[in-house]
Amino acid sequence: MKEALRQAKKAEKLGEVPIGCVIVKDGKIIARGYNRRNTDKNTLAHAELQAIRKASKAVGDWRLEECTMYITLEPCQMCAGAIVQARIPRVVIGCRNPKAGCAGSILNLLNVPAFNHQVELTEGILQEECSTLLKEFFRKLRKIKVQKV
Ligand SMILES: [Zn+2]
Repeated sequence: MKEALRQAKKAEKLGEVPIGCVIVKDGKIIARGYNRRNTDKNTLAHAELQAIRKASKAVGDWRLEECTMYITLEPCQMCAGAIVQARIPRVVIGCRNPKAGCAGSILNLLNVPAFNHQVELTEGILQEECSTLLKEFFRKLRKIKVQKV
């Protein structure tokens, strides 16, 4: 999760909402990703999707069956869907996203019994750091907006 936080800080440097992700296999980080939605002008540029793309390349398979994903923030519906599609068995999240999270906040797409794959979820790892990074980002953003008015 510490490395996921480092990735999130890369996003912050670009003025992006600081969200980072890493994928681990056999105790080693095989892929990293951070939010680049505005930089790439692409809805698909979420941290999780970048990491999934890189991990699939590293593993040589679209199935990431022996991997664990660490994300600083609860995934959205698109990324939770991709996690299920990639058959990732375990996801670890830093903090929840009450407005968009689909790993339990709004929906729990990671654990729908009718789907062919369910994901084991661990949450609250480095929660304070993950949530503070986001809160500080939005606090600074509001300050900038106020100054511009
Ligand atoms: Zn997402």
